[in-house]
Amino acid sequence: MRVIVGQFAHETNTFSVQKADTEDFHKLFCYRGNEVPAKLAGTSSEVAGFLDVAQREGWSVVHTVATFANPSGKVTDRAWHELGGIILEAARANPDIDGVLLALHGAMVTESHDDAEGQLLEELRAILGPDVPVAVTLDLHANVSDRMARHASALVSYRTYPHVDMRERGQEAAELLRRAMAGEVRPQTVVARRPQLLGVAGGRTDTGPMLDVLARARALEQEPGVLSISVNAGFSKADIVDAGPAVTVTGDGDDPRWRTMAEELMDMVWATRADRGGRVLTPAEAARHAAAWQGEAGRPLVIADAGDNPGGGGYGDSTSLLQALLEAGVRDVAVGSIRDAEAVAAMAAAGVGAEVTLEVGGKVDPVFGGPPLRLTGQVVHVGPGNFVHEGPMWAGLEASFGQVAVLRTAGIDVMCATNLLQLLDRNAFRVAGIEPAGKRILVVKSSQHFRAAFGPMAGEILVVDGGGLTTRDYDRMPFRKLRRPIFPLDTQ
Ligand SMILES: [Zn+2]
Repeated sequence: MRVIVGQFAHETNTFSVQKADTEDFHKLFCYRGNEVPAKLAGTSSEVAGFLDVAQREGWSVVHTVATFANPSGKVTDRAWHELGGIILEAARANPDIDGVLLALHGAMVTESHDDAEGQLLEELRAILGPDVPVAVTLDLHANVSDRMARHASALVSYRTYPHVDMRERGQEAAELLRRAMAGEVRPQTVVARRPQLLGVAGGRTDTGPMLDVLARARALEQEPGVLSISVNAGFSKADIVDAGPAVTVTGDGDDPRWRTMAEELMDMVWATRADRGGRVLTPAEAARHAAAWQGEAGRPLVIADAGDNPGGGGYGDSTSLLQALLEAGVRDVAVGSIRDAEAVAAMAAAGVGAEVTLEVGGKVDPVFGGPPLRLTGQVVHVGPGNFVHEGPMWAGLEASFGQVAVLRTAGIDVMCATNLLQLLDRNAFRVAGIEPAGKRILVVKSSQHFRAAFGPMAGEILVVDGGGLTTRDYDRMPFRKLRRPIFPLDTQ
């Protein structure tokens, strides 16, 4: 069997002013051809899962592109054509291909396409014709469209948040493709949704209502003919028609039971809509708690700056939490990280050991997350920000903050980074010379993914909304294209 393998993934926060161009995909990873297996085999990624099955089955794999940019604003048309075009071109060049495996996100929006994955799959289907099976993995935060379900044969979303099952889902999709190529099954997918932007507590799977919905989905998967069921929490910072939770059921052939199952699970998701996933503090509340916090050595208080999560398209330069910690006199803190290329360059020019006064953060859009802070301190680290994720999430994957520098001010080590990247791994601190277990308090710009690596070592975890672009205050988001009425904007 000959199989096309590709990955083209982006979670698009349509409220961000920072578009994702081709260079932004290269900043995280963008592998071509034989680089794909060299870099991704064996890692905690969907492509690794595809390759596990391909190797076992002895498939001949046509490698195309595997790329993922940090979430941000819309993908440029240029990046869309350059990167998506590689996958389409491979389909054109291999008219005898037996199947296609794609790792997509499901919440990509481009300058021209609100439903970018639906567009890509429709164009791909037009090249392949109706009979070549296409199995697709999606993020748990996919905004699944009817068009995606129509043009893909099978959709398989992550079942964990933090996302630690990417490889397993890749294997599952590849196994489905194997059965479809062998003629054992003819996968078809239906999708269901409700008038809700939010649900299942954002999809978190360490606790909360998502676990009940997933358990029911696993039970329904035991019914005859059901191939895979996915519960998507949706991505809410997307001003597109179909944003919000969705359930997909992939079954063997066309059967009305798939629709019935999807609707039953969406009834469960609808009932969870008021659960926002735990308590969220203001920066001042968190700073007061941190100032009084007594923990044991090696088990830091971890404060998640969920309102400015680069993993949801936040700018990563919100200063409201840092400001509150400084005002409360909290010491022995590491902040990871403030994305501020200017501050990094200024510290690099001054050199390690120099005392500097800098404007830090708040530069992209101070309306979201506070103005730049004028800080005086000592430069304690300057260096490259390339590292390999320790895991469990993204274990083995390379990433880079670009150049990094650390400013020590009033007992707080402020890690500044050139590139936007969610901080979800302990090695992300170590690359800046900070041993996370050696700090009393860690600040991470992340909403939930940080729990995979930092949960086991944390003395306590606080979640803060400091008003960045991933704030929970949806009244601040100027929705225009989203279907209405919808919870929570119009209804209870
Ligand atoms: Zn996600």
